[in-house]
Amino acid sequence: TGAAQSQLALRDVTVSFGGFVAVAGLDLTVNRGELRCLIGPNGAGKTTTLDLICGRSRISSGAIVFDGKEIHQLSEFEIARTGIGRKFQVPSVFRELSVRDNLEIGSSRQYGVLRNLGKFGGAADRERLERLAELVGLSDDLDKQATQLSHGQTQWLEIALILAQDPPLILMDEPTAGMTAHETEKTAQLFNALRGKHTLIVVEHDMGFVRDIAETISVMHQGKLLAQGTADEVSDDPQVREAYLGS
Ligand code: ADP
Repeated sequence: TGAAQSQLALRDVTVSFGGFVAVAGLDLTVNRGELRCLIGPNGAGKTTTLDLICGRSRISSGAIVFDGKEIHQLSEFEIARTGIGRKFQVPSVFRELSVRDNLEIGSSRQYGVLRNLGKFGGAADRERLERLAELVGLSDDLDKQATQLSHGQTQWLEIALILAQDPPLILMDEPTAGMTAHETEKTAQLFNALRGKHTLIVVEHDMGFVRDIAETISVMHQGKLLAQGTADEVSDDPQVREAYLGS
């Protein structure tokens, strides 16, 4: 059944901040290897949903199940250790270090835990680092200091640091924010290359980008799932049109 296949399931999830209900009985399931985009007008509850999945915020009621286990009672650190990576809007790369050193540190971690710092340096490690740099388009920039990178390159380095830890599920909040059109296009290529290797949940405003990467789009409005389907299906949906106009 679909339920047995789904890697992540949010079941009737609600969270309120003070009296304000930001997520209101949300049901959302994502299958292993899927690249799911989460869209919706401002304030729909998208970022809050990512916060709930990774344990940054606590659900008020409902359940979040990852790989068959309830995770909503775990700490943010414990959830990271179960294999959920999160890319925030503000990158957390080591600015004073080179791209190569950043990637070495990233590769020494798994799911947020430092495992083998100092042991890095075998041929297999170096090869993996170079493959990763190539994947995110930073092969020619390995010896640059992170501060020398463009905005888009910094985002790609941040993505590489998450990929280095190889989490089965990766959450990304507006990865193309502030990118040039060319950088956005390259980011779409990267995401298409990641398809099937990781499960990705991507919050995005750029509908062109969403069309380029997503098979299934989930539309949130007022803390609930309003619609779900292909880009054409959701953009033709009258309820979706109304939600965007009303916002
Ligand atoms: P989106 O990402 O879809 O734009 P958010 O998840 O950021 O929406 O926010 C949903 C609503 O919840 C917004 O109205 C926001 O102001 C509110 N909200 C989010 N986090 C908090 C918080 N920690 N305390 C109070 N209100 C919050």
